[in-house]
Amino acid sequence: MGMGASADRTADGPEEIPGILHLDMDAFFASIEVRDDPSLRGLPVVVGGAGARGVVAAASYPARARGIRSAMPMASARRLAPDLVIVPPRIAHYREVSSQVMGILGDVVADIEQISVDEAFLDVRGARRLFGEPVEIADLLRRRIREELALPSSVGGSVSRAVAKIASARAKPDGMLIVPADRTAEFLAPLPVGAISGVGPKAQAALERLGVRTIGQLREVPTSTLARALGPRTPEILALADGSDRTGLGHRTKDRSLGTERTWDEDLTDPAEVRRRITMMADEVSRQLRRSGFVSRTVVLKLRAPDGTTLSRSSTFDQPTASGERLREHVVALWERERPTMRRVRLAGVRATQLEPAAGVSLQSELSARPAGWTDLEAAMDRARDRFGSASLSRGSTLEPGRAEAPPTESPAPGESSAGR
Ligand SMILES: [Mg+2]
Repeated sequence: MGMGASADRTADGPEEIPGILHLDMDAFFASIEVRDDPSLRGLPVVVGGAGARGVVAAASYPARARGIRSAMPMASARRLAPDLVIVPPRIAHYREVSSQVMGILGDVVADIEQISVDEAFLDVRGARRLFGEPVEIADLLRRRIREELALPSSVGGSVSRAVAKIASARAKPDGMLIVPADRTAEFLAPLPVGAISGVGPKAQAALERLGVRTIGQLREVPTSTLARALGPRTPEILALADGSDRTGLGHRTKDRSLGTERTWDEDLTDPAEVRRRITMMADEVSRQLRRSGFVSRTVVLKLRAPDGTTLSRSSTFDQPTASGERLREHVVALWERERPTMRRVRLAGVRATQLEPAAGVSLQSELSARPAGWTDLEAAMDRARDRFGSASLSRGSTLEPGRAEAPPTESPAPGESSAGR
């Protein structure tokens, strides 16, 4: 039995174990580069763009020891370490290693929530009988990642996901910290309030004015006073601070989907009109994806005839994407296959499924490179829509000449339609 077993037993209830783990790879991209080129070992290595506008995407621990952090402009990093080694990012390679890491986790634990390319939450309560206590499972995972992939990782464990994440950050680099259930409040008390995700600089400043710097001090302040500083998340933050939070894994992103559907009062009989409508829906769904930071593996087109016959057809992308262009392409191809038998359409829907976090995508935009999976044009259109509302821009391809019934706000001015291509 694990060493934490007796400490975790509460006086009046069943034994409670710190069964939520947060596994986070250490300096993931930089560690991969050093592994693949051992001559870099011990050097201040960063992954990122070397150009004038380059940004540090990942920094090795020797680089961190010099004060270099990710998201720092490359020029500042160079000033801190004149001998800096800058390695251009290999996104596809990192993705591949990421799926190897997730594969190892999946070998041992069934309940996994991947939250980015190099970190995941695991609920190991169901894996105990096979693999032992959380501390033993954490150890096993770290050892396998080290032996099979030659990469360092850290694990935090707790009764709640928020505390597990705080613990993994404290365990770094190449460490493990499992907080027994009845020691949670004690573990958190000396930590700065900023260790709680969601307590940003603004909230920290407000708390500072109340004389609150640590999570322990937070618990001494009357709730009503706290509520003024922290807003609606106050109960959540308080539950975390006193160790009573029990939030487990969130929804697994693979089960999630995003979509839109419409029913029309009058059946659509013109195939070109159906095509136009589903194209606009695909655009809308791609915007939802980009806004929520997801990419999708599969798109589903749903069609319903006036007699109630409903068809659902799906198509899988070569690579997960949030691109409106890809979604349109696939949705239109699905429609072209169904249109000979679907003479009248009453309802149509477009749904993106098998979502995953757009980790590589956000990495690339951090590097101020062209985001994978969607075009510069689409990003520019998103920004314009956010500023002016969705009526201000429409793609040229969604508009067909001579179609007078489209609401006037959807028609672009002549100058704007050039934004479509
Ligand atoms: Mg990491």
